[in-house]
Amino acid sequence: MTLRILLRAVAHPRKASKDLGPPPRPRDVLSRDLHGSLQVRHVDAGSCNGCEMEVHSAFAPVYDAERFGVRLVASPRHADALLVTGPVTKNMSDPLRKTYEALPEPRLVITLGDCAQDCGVFKGGYGVEGSVSDVVPVDVHIPGCPPHPQAIVEALRGFTGR
Ligand code: SF4
Repeated sequence: MTLRILLRAVAHPRKASKDLGPPPRPRDVLSRDLHGSLQVRHVDAGSCNGCEMEVHSAFAPVYDAERFGVRLVASPRHADALLVTGPVTKNMSDPLRKTYEALPEPRLVITLGDCAQDCGVFKGGYGVEGSVSDVVPVDVHIPGCPPHPQAIVEALRGFTGR
């Protein structure tokens, strides 16, 4: 980062947090056990990568979901929740099921994007097994094609209440 970019960032900080408002009321699902912290393992079950770009954006500096107690983790064994994108392809149905089983109990499944809910534009495709709920139980869905990063952050804040 050049000195000029650094000075510009200090002089004109982005104010994404101003748009987000007060913390939402925590969801009933597990919110008592989460204590304001949600560790998330992301699984791309067959997405076009549009949803992934918005997930990256939600955790990047502008929207910065981590400041609300949500973190992406590398192992399902460290996670409270699975965040699943895309329709489930035939090749990904077993890995998705195994990843779900590797999460410690109690565990959450959050689907993100229309394809995860009903296969979206990929419905009927030769390589598509079905929607995420055909493979693992789903607790919460974040709608959109793809969802806006702010909508992703809002939905995740619902678990941490921060
Ligand atoms: S919901 Fe839209 S952006 Fe997300 S995987 Fe499906 S087509 Fe791609």
